[in-house]
Amino acid sequence: MTTDGTTQRHVEEVIQATPASDGDGVRLLRVFGGNNLARFDPFLMLDEFGSYEARDYIGGFPPHPHRGFETVTYMLEGKMEHRDHMDNVGLLEPGDVQWMKAGAGVIHSEMPRQDHGRMRGFQLWVNLPAAEKMTPATYDDITSENIPTLSLAGAQIKAIAGVLTVNGEQLTGAVTDRSSEPAYLDIQVGKDPFDLCVQVPDGHTALLYVYEGSAGAGARQTPISARQLARLSRTGEVRLTAAGDSRLLLITGKPFGEPIVHHGPFVMNSQEEIDQAIGDYKAGRLAS
Ligand code: MN
Repeated sequence: MTTDGTTQRHVEEVIQATPASDGDGVRLLRVFGGNNLARFDPFLMLDEFGSYEARDYIGGFPPHPHRGFETVTYMLEGKMEHRDHMDNVGLLEPGDVQWMKAGAGVIHSEMPRQDHGRMRGFQLWVNLPAAEKMTPATYDDITSENIPTLSLAGAQIKAIAGVLTVNGEQLTGAVTDRSSEPAYLDIQVGKDPFDLCVQVPDGHTALLYVYEGSAGAGARQTPISARQLARLSRTGEVRLTAAGDSRLLLITGKPFGEPIVHHGPFVMNSQEEIDQAIGDYKAGRLAS
């Protein structure tokens, strides 16, 4: 509790992003993912990709399937082209977001549309509730100019998703109609330290990723360095002090509390459903 009677969340865990390779040799940082995902519910994975070297990204992500969740790609720099089994084509440019619900099945490629220069961005995986895992795939391509931005003295906040109160100002993001009630903010701090207070619904998961600079997060001002993720407790508001010139992602969402069975590009509620996804993919029935 604070002197004004509000509860502040505290940092329960600090996770260091680790180098990984995915797709056709794309070098990236895996912030979290893999197993023991319940504590991140409804989120499943966060990758940061970023390199000035074409050899680190040129292989891209050739055609591959997904079933059972959503992928959210946020480009900071560079260009990525998306193509899928329904002949959809979309180009992601700096600042753009693609929010794809794989649902029952998508087979797509995500390939760089550049052979030099910097490629930089994030991919977040958001789970779907059991009732929506086998629904048709959908896409939201959101261009940079359609992402609401809140300009505060000392920081700019891009609201990719969610409805939140930030330093007393209500902020409504580009995506607001998901069962996981996600909020996804990109916080760019000016040259001076910046204090942030965000009202997040009790019970929602809250994750803070520092990708440049540093911050003190939560009730105890736990130090978070660049390339670290803080997972906060689930009750109260989120307070943090970011150092000057920092950039951070704040990602929050409502846990589903359902079983999570993850196998490669499939995330379902049971092993039987995973076996079915693998069988459907092999038989050419995953996406139709
Ligand atoms: Mn993909």
